[in-house]
Amino acid sequence: MTQAPAPHQPSPSAPRQPLVAVYPGSFDPITNGHMDIIHRGASLFDTLYVAVAHNIDKRALFSVDERIDMIRECTAALPNVIPDTFSGLLIRYVADRGARVILRGVRAVSDFEFEFQMALMNRKLGREIETVFMMPAEQYSFLSSRLVKEVAGLGGRIDCFVPAIVIPRLLAALGSDR
Ligand code: ADP
Repeated sequence: MTQAPAPHQPSPSAPRQPLVAVYPGSFDPITNGHMDIIHRGASLFDTLYVAVAHNIDKRALFSVDERIDMIRECTAALPNVIPDTFSGLLIRYVADRGARVILRGVRAVSDFEFEFQMALMNRKLGREIETVFMMPAEQYSFLSSRLVKEVAGLGGRIDCFVPAIVIPRLLAALGSDR
């Protein structure tokens, strides 16, 4: 039986192309869980675009520019990380940036089904682009932007969930200057 060819088989003698990845998401706002994945991605890929999805269907607390600003400040020490935004088809944006990898974080089993569907759909749309999943450190495996907003809105402490620069902006955006 013949095996199906792998989608990408660079010749062993070809010089290695810089490996560019895109980490897409809402980042509303960026959390320590996102930061964990960004650090892992930045150490593996030559360039990592952290791309805020401009999604008109999803109500966000922060504007796209505010989210990019926070990502920029939080990743200032990582020179190969580029904060960016995109709208429309992710796969088209990934191709436009010359990237071959979509980076996603998986927290718990609950993320799996959605991520699996998305990865297979993106593979159908762009065969040459691979989705790579990374797991965060255990202490972030329950963390989501939604939960952080909820806890902050109810007056709970969020200092171990988000980078320090996010805290005052989150409290101001929620209108609760605690
Ligand atoms: P959410 O709003 O659910 O926090 P985003 O849409 O911003 O997430 O997520 C972007 C990507 O980051 C997704 O792949 C998501 O699974 C991943 N992600 C979000 N939070 C975490 C976390 N705590 N640990 C690992 N990955 C995460």
